[in-house]
Amino acid sequence: SNQSSREGSFVDVPKDLLGEIERLEKLFTIDTAKLKQITDRFVGELEKGLSNEGGSIPMNPTWVMSFPNGYETGTFLALDMGGTNLRVCQITLTEQKSEFDIIQSKYRLPEELKTGDADELWEYIADCLMQFIETHHGDTSKLEKLPLGFTFSYPATQNYIDEGILQRWTKGFDIPGVEGHNVVPMFEEALARRGVPIKLTALINDTTGTLIASAYTDTKMKIGCIFGTGCNAAYMEDCGSIPKLAHLNLPPETPMAINCEWGAFDNEHVVLPQTPYDVIIDKDSPRPGQQAFEKMIAGLYLGEIFRLIMVDLHDNHETHIFAGQDIPKLRKAYSLDSSFLSAIEEDPFENLSETAELFQSKLDIRANGPELELIRRTAELIGTRAARLSACGVAAISIKKGYKTCHVGADGSVFNKYPHFKARGAQGLREILDWPEKEDPKADDPIEVLAAEDGSGVGAALIAALTLQRVQAGNM
Ligand code: BGC
Ligand code: MG
Repeated sequence: SNQSSREGSFVDVPKDLLGEIERLEKLFTIDTAKLKQITDRFVGELEKGLSNEGGSIPMNPTWVMSFPNGYETGTFLALDMGGTNLRVCQITLTEQKSEFDIIQSKYRLPEELKTGDADELWEYIADCLMQFIETHHGDTSKLEKLPLGFTFSYPATQNYIDEGILQRWTKGFDIPGVEGHNVVPMFEEALARRGVPIKLTALINDTTGTLIASAYTDTKMKIGCIFGTGCNAAYMEDCGSIPKLAHLNLPPETPMAINCEWGAFDNEHVVLPQTPYDVIIDKDSPRPGQQAFEKMIAGLYLGEIFRLIMVDLHDNHETHIFAGQDIPKLRKAYSLDSSFLSAIEEDPFENLSETAELFQSKLDIRANGPELELIRRTAELIGTRAARLSACGVAAISIKKGYKTCHVGADGSVFNKYPHFKARGAQGLREILDWPEKEDPKADDPIEVLAAEDGSGVGAALIAALTLQRVQAGNM
């Protein structure tokens, strides 16, 4: 089933382990009433963020001021600086409605760069871009500057679309000297030093790219979400509902895409049920007190939550799982990523033999039958909590905007690869929004979260195209 609960199979689990499972179930289960309470507060926090009344959700205006109509054309470069990879694309928006061609290369983003020196990061990025252009365009000396959409997936203040003042690093990045500064000149200086023939046209958040790319092919798309290394959403607001932009006197019906940065929801810990494990995640992160919501949902943290539970049950509780075994590999922080949990949840065998094999090969740990049951249930609890919490954000935007039916475009490794994430999220939405039972189980839900188009590639190109159109029309 969707929930893939193995509750029925606990007969062989000794009492003390059963007690642990029950304790974890209490800590991690978020019932319907709680989902609704979280969503209520979420709606208010979205409003606060738009109004400058404080609150923790930034609600950043992005200067993306229209949806595409499908007839955009031109050739653009896109650079995606995600949490894990660096991707460079060249996208041609063709004459045919909603069609495009894309070529792309992926580069590893070396782990040391994420906590190193800013110059090194920009140089590395400039090198990747140069390599891409040389491969695909040959001699760069005669090239006209190519327009680029730069997907910079961190919270940034933008007074213009080609500006991005980093509010704070997220997703484990910790590079000194960048927070509080506009990253565009740093990036452009590195390009100039290398002679890379590129002109930055727009700085984009991955969620905004996802929103625009998805709307290019499906006009019912109203929200763009990322459930990947980090977690966030964007949607189209009208300027009349953004009090913090009132001083610009834009016509109230002017559209403005908002990058919510909802990962920061409940940083003040009012409504999210934090477990002791969430407290440790936060305390040991480079930015304690930040991204409270994200730290319960995003792929960067799911494996780490699981690891902390396992170490705790080995060290501190009467159960002493993996008794008599040393667990040096399991003690290494951030050594398990969310694909490890995915693999546990995907184990098809009644005896969880694949999970046993995984613990043996990856961690040098022998897990017995009852321990394997505990492991599986723990993964389910963490994955289910993440999916259900994500539904609160989607529901909150839908309620705020009065969307009764729409499509939500979602991307990211957790959304695309984590087992049951979509079904569990959909179930959460159903509970929050009180949809009646479906007569036909195959019928669509009123609000559906669907796989998005490529936001940081095609979306970035579209936003660059829309920006150039706007500049040519003489509007801002
Ligand atoms: C960042 C967002 C981004 C999200 C998904 C978060 O950590 O703050 O800007 O959209 O991750 O990549
Ligand atoms: Mg990305």
